[in-house]
Amino acid sequence: MSGRIPVCILGATGTVGQKFVRLLAEHPQFEIAALAASGQSAGKRYGDIVRWRESSPLPPVVASMTVQRAEPGLPGKVAFSAIEADIAGEVERAFAQAGVFVVTNTRTHRMDPTVPLLIPEVNPDHLQLLTRQQREQGWSGGIVANPNCSTAGLALGMAPLHRAFGIEKLFVATMQAVSGAGYPGVASLDAIGNVIPYIGGEEEKLEEETRKILGVLGANAVTEAPIAVSAHTNRVPVVDGHLEVVSVGLAHRVSPEEAMAALEGFRAPEEVARLHSTPARPVEVDRRPDRPQSRLDLDRGNGMTVTIGRVRPCPLLDLRLVLLSHNTIRGAAGAAVQNAELLVARGWVG
Ligand code: NAP
Repeated sequence: MSGRIPVCILGATGTVGQKFVRLLAEHPQFEIAALAASGQSAGKRYGDIVRWRESSPLPPVVASMTVQRAEPGLPGKVAFSAIEADIAGEVERAFAQAGVFVVTNTRTHRMDPTVPLLIPEVNPDHLQLLTRQQREQGWSGGIVANPNCSTAGLALGMAPLHRAFGIEKLFVATMQAVSGAGYPGVASLDAIGNVIPYIGGEEEKLEEETRKILGVLGANAVTEAPIAVSAHTNRVPVVDGHLEVVSVGLAHRVSPEEAMAALEGFRAPEEVARLHSTPARPVEVDRRPDRPQSRLDLDRGNGMTVTIGRVRPCPLLDLRLVLLSHNTIRGAAGAAVQNAELLVARGWVG
């Protein structure tokens, strides 16, 4: 026995599922006990059916595991969910009812008022919503969500500015990688040499989720941050990494230097800083005029750091800047693993 906590991965064959496999195969607290996917994959050897896209080799012990159906009864106290969003709702609820803590990437439950939508560096207190969720649902397990891939970087990058100066208006235009659409995702004939100015549902997610994450937890519910958010989302021919150009209107007008000082001074709360997946610097400022760039700056903090650059005055709002985050790590698997680490640190799972 390794002494590590057994976990299962739902949607283990997909883009995010593979990231989970890589992060969890070498995790000090968790041990992969089961892999699950659709009925088409169930019963087959993982190594035989996965189109492994990670740069590190597939661990042989994982390759030899048999893929199972995503149904309660799988071994594991935590289920990392990266299944097709359309079917995730029912599956995740069934696991929570069966006493499992579901840490999900899918959109299904994010805006449920009883589901914590977490970025541990920003709103770890929202985890307390689990108490209400368990009481109302009668579950012994629970559901905890991480944000959509474009919201994850935006909300983390904006948290220091919101805390220090009060964001009132936020304009964001994204340039999102093709890996954000899963595999096979966007057809190559649509993606290569092209920009697609539409990602279904993404603008609504950026607008709603950002307000929930930056909101304030009251006795039993989150009061959303009163920020007017306007989002434009675009798919660009980049493999990994979402780049976002942002303008903010602030309650207290500040200079770019003051804003950069707030961003550079941002640190996770102590209990979150101790988590295995928390980077030393959740937000980094790069002062070079042509940074951040998707290819060069994506892997900072093992993909968990958001890089911000080009902080300058905005003639329409107060400040404008460029922000980069890793969509399948900070925006998906890495975020969920960090959420599960917080569940362990707070004693929900052990
Ligand atoms: P993907 O590459 O298309 O993978 C989808 C996974 O879902 C596969 O493992 C697939 O298994 C499984 N699946 C499909 N139907 C199923 C069923 N009926 N029962 C159980 N499993 C089923 O998608 P992805 O990009 O990894 O995204 C997975 C989820 O994470 C989605 O909800 C997505 O919205 C969300 N998300 C993705 C990103 C990103 O950057 N890609 C970021 C944040 C959130 P088979 O191989 O057997 O079909």
